[in-house]
Amino acid sequence: MADWDLLLTDAHVATMRGDGYGEIEDAALAVSDGAIAWVGPQAERPEVDAAETRSLGGRWLTPALIDCHTHLVFGGDRSAEFEQRLEGTRYEDIARAGGGIMSTVRATREMSSDALYAAALPRAQALAREGVATIEIKSGYGLDVDNEIKMLEVARRLGESTELDVRTTLLAAHAVPTEYADRADDYIDMVCDELLPLVAERGLADAVDAYLESIAFTAPQIAKRFRKAQQLELPVKLHADQLSDSGGAELAAHFDALSADHLEFTSKKGVKAMAAAGAVAVLLPGAYLTLGESQKPPVDLLRDNGVPIAVASDCNPGTSPICSLRAAMILASRLFGLTPLECLAGVTREAARALGLADDRGTLDVGKRADIAVWDIGHPRELAYWIGTPQLVELLVAD
Ligand SMILES: [Zn+2]
Repeated sequence: MADWDLLLTDAHVATMRGDGYGEIEDAALAVSDGAIAWVGPQAERPEVDAAETRSLGGRWLTPALIDCHTHLVFGGDRSAEFEQRLEGTRYEDIARAGGGIMSTVRATREMSSDALYAAALPRAQALAREGVATIEIKSGYGLDVDNEIKMLEVARRLGESTELDVRTTLLAAHAVPTEYADRADDYIDMVCDELLPLVAERGLADAVDAYLESIAFTAPQIAKRFRKAQQLELPVKLHADQLSDSGGAELAAHFDALSADHLEFTSKKGVKAMAAAGAVAVLLPGAYLTLGESQKPPVDLLRDNGVPIAVASDCNPGTSPICSLRAAMILASRLFGLTPLECLAGVTREAARALGLADDRGTLDVGKRADIAVWDIGHPRELAYWIGTPQLVELLVAD
């Protein structure tokens, strides 16, 4: 019997281990039982039998990409609102007038599970076609027990029916639903007392998220919810400081969040709190672009304080109608000044960390999942450079 299931030879590898690309030229990589069994220079490869050997003709291997922040299960679309915003209406005003997220909530509630699944599947497949093997999907457009659970079940089904590994996040505290208008505390109580325990009991979520902002929820409301999540042993993450400095980074850090996401208005104090807590900064340039924002996340402060930086698509119908992680990488370089290395690390190594999966994926290391992207490129820096060039040759995923 062969020792290895698959041996890839004549390749260059960007392992993404350490701080750099972890480049190995003229490399080989072996897979066994869905995990990486060996990786290194071809010349040093041990003489071991492989069931299948493939020469890759000098192509590059990287870890398969990870989109660590999406809302890709939703009903309807918001192209009319997009048009309004371009005509000058502010997002906050659209939201206060009952448009914005509430129109997506209505459309999502009206759709059956099957219809939601059918709508979301092409979006998940679009990500896979450009090298993504792991996707985080949030609920947050149901805003009641049945519809939040419906969204999480659809997300789980996407993982079961495709080769993608889907991680689900209960958002719920995304917006105050109309039936709880002016009673946000009551809504949070309902989420803590009914929804969260049910989701935990049924194993439907891998994490819990919330939106801290003047148009969403306050710090005390979110703290209550995070305490409940921690009682149920669910890790937390936070939409933080997107439209104002609400102390979101500090709040996330206080609860040992996996990540704080957006961060356009995060202060130095917030960055330091994240560094101390080991939270990942998830940057979402698609929302920044779509909302026409001018305040950039504090990238230099994040770097100086050693906060890991991830990049995600934030795929959603309102503020980031972008179903492309490659586009997010490209936007992160152009809009936020991330280097090509930071962009690639942000969708591999650091994205894995933002999902609490760093032990399992995100770098090409022995023992990790054999989720591998094969690229027709001259160097991995090209992945944040070319726009619209389909460089993915193949996506290999662990069973
Ligand atoms: Zn989001």
